[in-house]
Amino acid sequence: MCGIVGYIGKQQAAPILLDGLAKLEYRGYDSAGVCVYGENGFEVAKVKGRLAGLNEMIDGGAAMRGSLGIGHTRWATHGAPSQRNSHPHISTNGKISVVHNGIIENYLILKEYLLAHGKSFVSDTDTEVAANLLEYYYELEGDLLAAARRAVEKLAGSYALGILCADCPNTLLAVKKDSPLIVGFGHEENFIASDVPAILRYTREVVYLNDGDMVLFRDGEAEFYNKLGEEVEKIPEHISWEMSAAEKGGFPHFMLKEIFEQPKALRATISDRVKGGRVDLGDVHLSPEYLRGIRRIYIVACGSAYYVGCVGKYILEKTCRIPVEPILASEFRYSEPVLGDDTLVIIISQSGETADTLAALREANELGAHTLAIVNVVGSAISKAAHDVIYTWAGPEIAVATTKAYSTQLSVLYLLALYIGDLLGTLSVEEYEAMLHALNKLPDLLADMLTEDYLAHIKQLAAELKDNHDVFFIGRNLDSATCLEGSLKLKEIAYVHSEAYAAGELKHGPISLIEDKTLVVAVAGVPELFEKTMSNVKEVKARGAEVLGLTTADLEDEIKKTVDRYLLVPKTHPLLQPSLNVVPLQIFSYYMALARGCDVDKPRNLAKSVTVE
Ligand code: GLU
Repeated sequence: MCGIVGYIGKQQAAPILLDGLAKLEYRGYDSAGVCVYGENGFEVAKVKGRLAGLNEMIDGGAAMRGSLGIGHTRWATHGAPSQRNSHPHISTNGKISVVHNGIIENYLILKEYLLAHGKSFVSDTDTEVAANLLEYYYELEGDLLAAARRAVEKLAGSYALGILCADCPNTLLAVKKDSPLIVGFGHEENFIASDVPAILRYTREVVYLNDGDMVLFRDGEAEFYNKLGEEVEKIPEHISWEMSAAEKGGFPHFMLKEIFEQPKALRATISDRVKGGRVDLGDVHLSPEYLRGIRRIYIVACGSAYYVGCVGKYILEKTCRIPVEPILASEFRYSEPVLGDDTLVIIISQSGETADTLAALREANELGAHTLAIVNVVGSAISKAAHDVIYTWAGPEIAVATTKAYSTQLSVLYLLALYIGDLLGTLSVEEYEAMLHALNKLPDLLADMLTEDYLAHIKQLAAELKDNHDVFFIGRNLDSATCLEGSLKLKEIAYVHSEAYAAGELKHGPISLIEDKTLVVAVAGVPELFEKTMSNVKEVKARGAEVLGLTTADLEDEIKKTVDRYLLVPKTHPLLQPSLNVVPLQIFSYYMALARGCDVDKPRNLAKSVTVE
């Protein structure tokens, strides 16, 4: 979510903006636009689709004269990708031009207020609310900085904003909270950008803005203000990375970057839907009357999204007391599913374009079921075809093997479980509160896990275990579903053959494959089943297996007694534990892939979005 570039200096702005946006293409986008402050005020050009279209429209920048401007690549969150919804957005009276990355969570309330105060809207975006709010305060205050201060006090959510004012030809203002924004210092020119690659060609002297920081470039000077409004000095850092490292924000691979982005993605997905201590799913059409009539829930998906559904089965059945069946999209269509208006079909897809899943969704619609999609891409085919949609705010995911999309999909199932369980009265007040409390805490717990030591420990394990060719993942209940994802990760990126089994099932066949030194990963995160899983561990150990255990930190002394090596995760609400348990498995696969010399971000034979059946 996605790319901002801003320029103020002596050169022509438009070609620099286009060049900067091109360097941010890796972040993913669906439309693009620029605004240049020229002789006749603001000039705006926007396109739906690729930057090439924008380039063509303004002749590589030559068609727009002026040395102050802002540019944007949009990754739609509010309002479908279209020219109308693309940024920059101009306020009602043409005073303010804005580019925005992030989500204004309270945009509906602000929009109502602004409509009542004479502002009008031409797009469906949350961003236009920011443009009009800035104008509203600018008209009251007569000063851009003062207006921005008052506006940000009112904005909830995440934002990096690049702002121009029609009355200030030599001014560029920027502010950020929970969305990235950097400032670059050149010779008689300054830049703002979402990320270093956009400006690396022009400068390596960079300031990373903190949340709440504002920067005002005025007549060749830069003024910085902190979140308290105090003027502060910022010392630029020198960037020594090369372009390819810069794209990954200094991480060696997109996958690792995205693993680290999980807390933020979870926060964005959850906080938008929790209001006043209750889950609020906005305009999702699941009335208590409808829910009371539901006989069955299908969760239809492919790959990792299907494994999210496998975790979801346990969560939803426990909280809502409705039978839940996860089913692979490619099988669903041809299985003559028993569907009708008493069936809720939940469809999960990161891209929203997965061909098998889309076909299954259409089938479910035809058969009269209510369909609810969980997708990451606004305006995607699945989001349009489903009756209801809940977006995961994971931001674009670039590594082929999913991490943050998986985690956010799972968090939406928790929100749904709370929402449905509450409406049906199948969750007690205490259970509801305990689960919601844990869900709110989840992003921080996950962030705390991702320390250098934690990663170094897993890297060391991977170095020791990298030569295993056949790996078994075992676990019970929720853990058996987590094992499916852990095993898939290892196959996808490290090319290690692995199988996931419910731990109690091993002795019914696959245990015959356990030989001396076979690696077994045992996930034991369900407290009441810990001992049972340890019994299964003993069975494989008796046949020569080497066991890597995974459990919650409070059970360290216990797990140590049985396994050869172990990984720990913080303890949370039992139903939410899978969200944390999967993380070390993602990291383990990542280091296994590296240790085995694999191309982590682009594994062989795989595509990010599978649009063929
Ligand atoms: N929420 C804004 C929109 O949908 C900004 C999205 C972005 O970060 O690109 O227009």
